[in-house]
Amino acid sequence: MDLFVLSHVNKIYKIDKKRTFYALRNVTFSLPYTGFVSIVGKSGCGKSTCLNMLSLIDAPSSGNVYFQNKDINKFNDNKKSAYLLNEIGIIFQNFHLIEDEDVIYNIMLPYLISGHNKKEAHHAAEELLKKFQIKKDLYKQKCDSLSGGEKQRIAILRSLINNPLVLVCDEPTGALDKTNSKIVMDLLKNISKEKLVVMVSHNKKLVDEYSDRIIEMCDGKIIRDNYKITTDIKYVKNEKKHAKRASNWLNHISFKNIKRRFKRNIFTILSIVFGLVSTYIVIGFSLGKDKSVINESYKQFDYGSATLSKETSKPISNSVISISQTFKPSLVEKEELMEKFDQFFYVDNLDAFISPVSTILIGENIIENITCYPIYSFEDQSIDKQLLIRGKFPFSNNFAHVVINKSAYELILNQYKINPLNLSVRIKNQFETIYYPSDELEGIKDTFILDTNLTIDGVVDEFSFLDTPKIFYSYIGAADYLNSITLNNLSNFVHRDISWLSRIEMISANDPLSSYSYRLFLKDSNNKDYLKKVISTINAPFVLTSGAFIRESSLIELVNAADSTMKLFLVVILLGTIFIIGILSFFCYNEDKKRSAILSAIGARKGDIFSIYINESLFYVLIGYLISLLITIPITNLANSIISKHYYFHSIINLSWDKFLEVPFFIPIIVFITCIFVALIATLFPMVFSKKISIKDELQNI
Ligand code: ADP
Ligand code: MG
Repeated sequence: MDLFVLSHVNKIYKIDKKRTFYALRNVTFSLPYTGFVSIVGKSGCGKSTCLNMLSLIDAPSSGNVYFQNKDINKFNDNKKSAYLLNEIGIIFQNFHLIEDEDVIYNIMLPYLISGHNKKEAHHAAEELLKKFQIKKDLYKQKCDSLSGGEKQRIAILRSLINNPLVLVCDEPTGALDKTNSKIVMDLLKNISKEKLVVMVSHNKKLVDEYSDRIIEMCDGKIIRDNYKITTDIKYVKNEKKHAKRASNWLNHISFKNIKRRFKRNIFTILSIVFGLVSTYIVIGFSLGKDKSVINESYKQFDYGSATLSKETSKPISNSVISISQTFKPSLVEKEELMEKFDQFFYVDNLDAFISPVSTILIGENIIENITCYPIYSFEDQSIDKQLLIRGKFPFSNNFAHVVINKSAYELILNQYKINPLNLSVRIKNQFETIYYPSDELEGIKDTFILDTNLTIDGVVDEFSFLDTPKIFYSYIGAADYLNSITLNNLSNFVHRDISWLSRIEMISANDPLSSYSYRLFLKDSNNKDYLKKVISTINAPFVLTSGAFIRESSLIELVNAADSTMKLFLVVILLGTIFIIGILSFFCYNEDKKRSAILSAIGARKGDIFSIYINESLFYVLIGYLISLLITIPITNLANSIISKHYYFHSIINLSWDKFLEVPFFIPIIVFITCIFVALIATLFPMVFSKKISIKDELQNI
């Protein structure tokens, strides 16, 4: 029985669209289980092509190649690599050892691939080295330091370790000198006593000296074959080979690859770290922004102050436009609302008298851009007393005693070089009103003149977003003040004192003096959420307006916009990182094509080779992941402290060790799983789309 039977094998190459070339023409022969068979012929006659038919490096265009009666070209991928691993050893002209590994590892490798552990493999390799009398000091030598003859012997031993049935050797002495050629030929001859050795060679002398059988080829055909049928050929039963494959050997190779390329890949790790830290920070920002912004925006001294007005709109007939008007709500309406929303003080709006834009002077100098706002009282809990940073709150609610915010403090200090504390500033405002007792009578004109001194008792800290210099006066103090000054002409007319405060009660809902609104103050400054709730629940036509709330809302909008932008940016960063991992594995894979071809030739499966690169990417991702895990919190803290210094937000990125390590490790675990997934995709994708590794292209000298 024969080991191999080639039956009518043709190999046709397409040269161009029209022309074809027959590298093998109807080649038919069989090979026994033992002996030394040489294939000879002129260069280009098809010797290597013929040999490649046995080693699966090439497949016939037509015809069949049988190995122990099985058509090897009908094997599936796994069977093919098992065949390469266990049944056949391929010897190349250029040895193709893994050069940066030592001798013993190279010999062990096919044994490791076939599922033996390191110890067994080491032992088997040592046995083999001893059997073939390789000097002991070569065992641990790196292959790149060996001579050609030594390399070829090691390559032969490597092909023997899984005890194959056949060695196929393509010009095994082609790169060797005479002495080494002889050593290698002796070795092969020796092996051919137990196994089949098929060799392609140019060297007629060696062929004649060593071969049991010579097949001569010309132009793809066999022209001579001195096959002597020997009767003593026995059928060699295939011993049971290790069926289960192990993957430990992959780790060693991956590890070596990582070591080899580590320096170059620091950049990759950095980009992974960058991507991951960005991810964590964006997540932290999303988690922390609302709370941080709201906490900060509560630091507005007049947060609880709002105006209540009534808005009506009348459509203009035959037009899409309507006229909208704002009024002060009526007393009845006010009382209804007071009942419904009872956490406010409801008072008259004094803005017409003490205008937010009243003129403020230091001596004769007007302070530009400073505005005046009321708070309810310095004495009760309607104000947030914690905001005081300098001086004190006025002892009582006296209009003449005010506090300013930090921004006003800095304005006065920087522009006028005066310490604002205890400074007296002048407030001025003026307007005329006319009272018409009846249609016939002439109107009674009175002039309101506000011109008084305000002493700055304290400074409050305010949240700096849209923060303008402000003076806060006590509403109660202001009302007292307005109650104490009378309208002279009107008082004379009615023969009793009419104060400016009581004048407000007399005016109509659309008089400018009414400011078209009531002023509301939150009774308890801790109840800031209540203000928000009322603003969102109050129904038309009533409108509750709060400057502080508007500032807060616009800030939240701004921060949300920043959040969306960051998320978008993150997508770009992550795509970039995926791209970098992809490029990395693409280059590694392509750079190592020859190595991979060697591994394929000794029987590694396609999946094994992919695994090597997946391991490598996973390693980088894992390192990046761990580094990012370690540095995210310190970076977050740094970022938070920089942000809080410049923008006033505290902990806007809501990440901390306890948050991070919180059961069930939510964020890091999700990120980890995503990382693994991304690494797999980013690695596999370019490999699947790379050109298939061809042993012939990578390892053969055509
Ligand atoms: P040799 O006898 O020198 O080993 P080969 O078996 O390598 O010759 O090649 C046989 C012939 O087939 C040569 O003429 C070679 O140019 C041709 N050949 C080999 N591979 C290819 C290919 N991929 N495409 C076209 N022609 C090829
Ligand atoms: Mg050749």
